[in-house]
Amino acid sequence: MQENLNFDQQHIWHPYTSALNPLPCYQVVGAQGVEIELASGEKLIDGVSSWWTAIHGYNHPALNAALNQQISQFSHVMFGGLTHQPAIDLCRTLLDITPQGLSWVFLADSGSVSVEVAMKMALQYWVCQGNGKKHKFITPRNGYHGDTFAAMSVCDPVNGMHSIFNNTLSQQIFAPAPQTRFDRHWNEDDIKPLQDLIEKHHHELAALIIEPIVQNAGGMRIYHLEYLKRCRQLCDDYNLLLICDEIATGFGRTGKLFACEHADISPDIMCLGKALTGGYMTLAATLCTEDVAQGVCQGEPGVFMHGPTFMGNALACSVANASLKLLLEGQWQTQVASIERQLKDELNACSKLAAVADVRVLGAIGVVECKNPVNVADLQRRWLKMGVWIRPFGKLIYIMPPYIISPTQLTQLTSAIYKVLV
Ligand code: PMP
Repeated sequence: MQENLNFDQQHIWHPYTSALNPLPCYQVVGAQGVEIELASGEKLIDGVSSWWTAIHGYNHPALNAALNQQISQFSHVMFGGLTHQPAIDLCRTLLDITPQGLSWVFLADSGSVSVEVAMKMALQYWVCQGNGKKHKFITPRNGYHGDTFAAMSVCDPVNGMHSIFNNTLSQQIFAPAPQTRFDRHWNEDDIKPLQDLIEKHHHELAALIIEPIVQNAGGMRIYHLEYLKRCRQLCDDYNLLLICDEIATGFGRTGKLFACEHADISPDIMCLGKALTGGYMTLAATLCTEDVAQGVCQGEPGVFMHGPTFMGNALACSVANASLKLLLEGQWQTQVASIERQLKDELNACSKLAAVADVRVLGAIGVVECKNPVNVADLQRRWLKMGVWIRPFGKLIYIMPPYIISPTQLTQLTSAIYKVLV
């Protein structure tokens, strides 16, 4: 085992880690329900749902069966000029369950790609309307939309990667992050800076891009629904498209099926990913309205200019269909509501600790913000001994467990967080 881990440390890139001084990595041999099993024998309760994807837990019989059934027919065929039932069923379901007005689906390979597609759609839309001056994006600070270049350009310019890639990144317009918290009284001043910037720049703005209600990897911030409502209104008033990135928030995580529903708004373009396949395979989708779809295809070149090799992968679509069936026919609302209650109850204890700056909870998302950046490797070593898997970043320790987690397992996660902070 050590030989494998040595090879891994010396030759394999992991997310956001160093070739010079890599973070420790633990070898997994199995995963079942909410537990990940390590080669060293430990079974860990997963507080991260494999980066917010495995909402039904691991090794689920219905998801396994969907893949087995599909693999016996075919795994993949090109999507250019060919189509298939798993993709048709998936797109039909997505259009049924997402906010009103979205009527076209572009299947993409990952969240970042779906954001690239969304941004490209917005740009092509305005070019095709003869308004190529509208080529920039406006977005609140503390956002995160992915690691590819267009997506990076709209990530938070301070905690994102702008300092390294600024010479290459498209220059976008950043508004201050929303300040009013989800559960506080709305402060009208909160929207003013965004409004002023849109008023000033609307002639050069293609779209406003935002993570609805929860800004995730850019700070785990949970903001007031009125801010999102106003975003919709401002886009209408100033002729901008609204792109909602629901990659992290979609499929029930915030207590609504989609976070846009908190504010009762529909975007012009919506990105979905992460939990779409229940954590089994990479798949994402960019949805848009009829107006956007028609607009993009007017004039030259007359087609939307994007077409990935693995678009509409049949295995990914079939497991997404099975995951959505489980979700829609299951008890996610009750599960997420009880996770929310328990997180509020149990994480509250952390808010009294000297090391802690803030505790916030929405749906199945619990966040403990520390006063200082935490030592990930050290904390993980301690958590492993407590039988839990949590992956903090910066000052943020958060949990986003699978919806099927039991109250006892959730308590193990929340008490493990408390124990390393006292
Ligand atoms: N948008 C949001 C809101 C995300 O949270 C993420 C991933 N953390 C992405 C986009 C990028 O998705 P992916 O990692 O699948 O490319």
